[in-house]
This record gives sequence, C-alpha cells and structure tokens, in this order.
Amino acid sequence: MSDSFTSKGILDCSIVVPVYNEEESLRDLFGEILKVMTPMRNDYEVIFVDDCSSDASSKIINDFCDEFPEVAKNLPLTERSGQTYALKQGLESAIGKIVISLDADLQNDPGDIPRLLEKMKEGYDCVCGWRKSRQDTVLKAAMSKFGNVMQRLFTGMKIHDVSCTLRAYKKECVGKIALNWEGQHRFIPLSLSLQGYRVGEIVSNHRKRKYGYSKYNHRRVFRVVVDFFRVLSVRGKK
Ligand code: UDP
Ligand code: MG
Repeated sequence: MSDSFTSKGILDCSIVVPVYNEEESLRDLFGEILKVMTPMRNDYEVIFVDDCSSDASSKIINDFCDEFPEVAKNLPLTERSGQTYALKQGLESAIGKIVISLDADLQNDPGDIPRLLEKMKEGYDCVCGWRKSRQDTVLKAAMSKFGNVMQRLFTGMKIHDVSCTLRAYKKECVGKIALNWEGQHRFIPLSLSLQGYRVGEIVSNHRKRKYGYSKYNHRRVFRVVVDFFRVLSVRGKK
C-alpha cells in the first residue's frame, strides 16, 4: 500500500471487502459504495483484499485505484488464503475510526451503511446486519438459522444473525477480533461479545447472488459446529 495512503493518518471510515473471483460484481459494488458514501461527506477508504483471484478482479480493482486514488485501495494477497485471512488483512490495514466489512458479491447492500453508522452512535462496539429476509438457498438459510439458535442458546448472545458479513466495528475493538484460522470470521460477534464488547444489530437488505458462485457449500456444517466450540473454549479471545 502506498505511503500517501498511510500518511493520511486516520479517516472517518474504512470499508473492507474480501474478493475472490468477483469480476462481474465489482463495478456495480464500487458504484453503489460511492453513491452511498459521497453524500455523507466522510473521509473514507475502500480496501479491496484480493484473495489471489484468477479472473479479472485484480485488474478491475487496479482500475478503481487509478480512477479514485483517494478512495480505492488494493491489498493483493500473494496466494489464495481464504475469506478469514483476507478479512484479517483488510481489518489490520484499515485506518478508519469505524471499520465496515462487506462481501464483494452484491449480496450485502452498501445502502445499509448509513444505518449501520447511525446505530454505532448509540454506543455499540460492533453492529451487525440481520438478513431478516435472506436470499440464499433453503438449505443455506436453514443451516444459518441452526447456527444462530446454537449461539443464542449456548452464549446468551442476543443478535439474530451472527454470520452476516455486513458489520461495523469501532477501530479500538478491531485489534481484539480473533481471526487465526479459516472460518473464524463467522464468530466475530461472538468473539467480541465474549470479551465484553457491546454488539448490536440492524435489519439489513440481502440480495440473491446475481453473478459468480458461492465459495462454500453445505458440507461445511459439521466444521462450523466444531469451530463454534473452539471459539467458546477460549472465550472468544485471540
Ligand atoms: N471470499 C474470499 N476468499 C475465499 C472465499 C470467499 O475472499 O476463499 C470472498 C468472496 O469473494 C466474497 C466473500 O468472501 O466477497 C463471501 O464469499 P461468498 O459470497 O462465496 O460466501 P457466501 O455468501 O456464499 O457465504
Ligand atoms: Mg455471498
């Protein structure tokens, strides 16, 4: 990342987007982000963490950086490392007072960002999207529901959608988020809440994947249950 970027110091907001082969979605996504953020007059950056895409994603991100050097940042990984690691790298390099994460595939709606930021003003350390009307396959939605019920039951956590990747975090708690192994990004709210941080939610818009393909399938369900107990066993710490 360039010196001119880091020398800017602190921004109002950083948006972190892990990307693996999302060439068809990226232009629409960046357009939607600009449309939402520009009227808010915040100083902000959009960090695209390219998880070693093999399609044109990397070129498209570089085009954004050329066209909007003050806003778009490219953080390319040298090998495919998975969503958790990509997110970790993005969060670590973010310099915004509030850091927002969202997916690159247009399933999360950047139009929800102003409400996330409003909710943060109520004093939360992290605010999560709640995909109340979820636009995924029945199986995926059912698996997710199961995960949410488990987490509420075992941990007393109140939020409805623990694995929605649209979230806002205070910069101060970003460094406490445990992202040490692939899959751990699904437990960020749990990790923060176990450490005593205030986690809230807003109902968020969720859209069908229009382009490309999901990088996951239902076979991960057993793994996610094991991961859940792994996070609980260390009380969400790093
Ligand atoms: N992703 C990534 N590396 C991976 C898998 C996914 O950077 O190994 C990104 C992907 O491009 C997307 C986000 O992580 O921006 C979520 O992936 P996906 O939409 O496939 O997950 P789903 O919504 O189906 O759970
Ligand atoms: Mg998706």
